[in-house]
Amino acid sequence: MSKKQFLVIGLGRFGTSVCKELYKQGHDVIAVDENEERVQDADAFTSRAIIADTTQEKTLRSLEPTNYDCVLVAIGDHIQESILTTLLLKELGVKKVWVKARNEQHHRVLEKIGADRIVHPELDMGIRIAHSLDSDKIIDYVEISPDHSILEMRATSKIAGQPLAKLNIRKKYKCNILGIKSAGRLTITPMPDDTLTEGDVIIILGENKDLKRFEKGAL
Ligand code: ADP
Repeated sequence: MSKKQFLVIGLGRFGTSVCKELYKQGHDVIAVDENEERVQDADAFTSRAIIADTTQEKTLRSLEPTNYDCVLVAIGDHIQESILTTLLLKELGVKKVWVKARNEQHHRVLEKIGADRIVHPELDMGIRIAHSLDSDKIIDYVEISPDHSILEMRATSKIAGQPLAKLNIRKKYKCNILGIKSAGRLTITPMPDDTLTEGDVIIILGENKDLKRFEKGAL
């Protein structure tokens, strides 16, 4: 894995969690917040943490945001500051600006001013949790388009013991198995003669209606 440089603006719960994970993965993470206490706390899980108000153009420019692979604006509740920071970053020529949006209006403004990716962590997590709650076979869920998803599902005894070729999932359910997690090991190119064991995790891509059919019919 190549080491990347990330600038994370805003050390709330979301920004902090992203910083910790990126830093754990071995990347260079520079965090910025106007709150001194939050910046001090971030010393433990960032390469460097800086106190600054990113709505001040001069201050933001001095952080040299164009030098990073990606800048994440994780200022959630302060919508005005989030918009202004994003606008300045795009004006300064930052190629990849990801922003956390608080609500639909915030999202629409961010889209208009050129945010490269807009995330809604609470909303997305809510949807994922709802899918897991809806079925005890679904462990995780990622939406690919409004009609397509990738699901992680638990193999039941019904599907266990037969080679994938015999299960004929592609033909029967129009879904693709992308990977299988078995006893802590992930196989990303499952072979036709691979066999599932009860409790294995199946990572499967398909149209939502076909995934539902697979869940009801095969598991
Ligand atoms: P979360 O919902 O993820 O907990 P918050 O909205 O509570 O996020 O936190 C956002 C963080 O962004 C706060 O720590 C706040 O101090 C910081 N912040 C807000 N405005 C600015 C700004 N203009 N410059 C730098 N940091 C800011």
